[in-house]
Amino acid sequence: SDERQNAVTVVIGGASGIGAATVADLRAHGHEVVVADLAPPADGIAVDVADEPSVAALFEAVVEQHGGFTGVVNCAGVSTLSAIVDHDAAEFRRVVDVCLTGAFLVLKHGGARVTDGGAIVSLSSLNARQPGTGMAAYCSAKAGLVMLTQVAALELAPRGVRVNAVSPGLVVTPLTAPAMDIPGVRDGYLDNTPLGRSGEPGEIAALLRFLLSEDAAWITGENIDVNGGAHLQ
Ligand code: NAD
Repeated sequence: SDERQNAVTVVIGGASGIGAATVADLRAHGHEVVVADLAPPADGIAVDVADEPSVAALFEAVVEQHGGFTGVVNCAGVSTLSAIVDHDAAEFRRVVDVCLTGAFLVLKHGGARVTDGGAIVSLSSLNARQPGTGMAAYCSAKAGLVMLTQVAALELAPRGVRVNAVSPGLVVTPLTAPAMDIPGVRDGYLDNTPLGRSGEPGEIAALLRFLLSEDAAWITGENIDVNGGAHLQ
């Protein structure tokens, strides 16, 4: 497909899970993709989204190597499992640093350099609207990311840059696989999912590709649920 000819898209967190599926999907649809991650593949760029100089250097390098970029997908994310009364504060801050401050730094430096008319999409989560026991840091950061997306959409709209978020339900990836071993977690989730199954990384990638495309040219400041209906109950 030539739906996004001349698209240069930066996929952060592109080495694993949803990000890796997105890299493959975008390449299959004609995007030139730059993969960025803590431990990137050989043709990628190393970045820590929680570290401002690192994020600034990423987008500078993309401009230098590719002449610019039209899209950014930010899939970087980490989680932790701890009740608030037992929560290590540094661990809480690290999750917020990566999931919320990291998204801010990507919008700051990516937003400053993305081509006019381009698009930025961040990964929020079903947990932005659905609290989970032991997930205070992750839920709080992902909820903040939804509002951050709306503010960024307002601020970047004068340049025609669209900013959206995507909120998946359960997709089994290296991030979520450990929780699948906790008795009852997977069944509990699927009981609350009308379509009765977890999602595939490619099903998230397809939505991300749509939001980057011209077909989504009038969508900005939105957070789209993709979860088999889990947000309905
Ligand atoms: P994953 O662990 O497979 O991939 C996440 C990637 O982000 C990894 O490659 C990791 O190295 C990278 N990363 C982590 N910290 C980083 C940092 N500081 N700087 C740069 N890169 C960093 O996880 P996934 O399941 O593919 O999740 C992708 C995104 O989707 C995350 O934001 C996650 O919160 C969100 N999400 C996932 C699910 C799910 O069920 N898998 C559900 C809702 C939301």
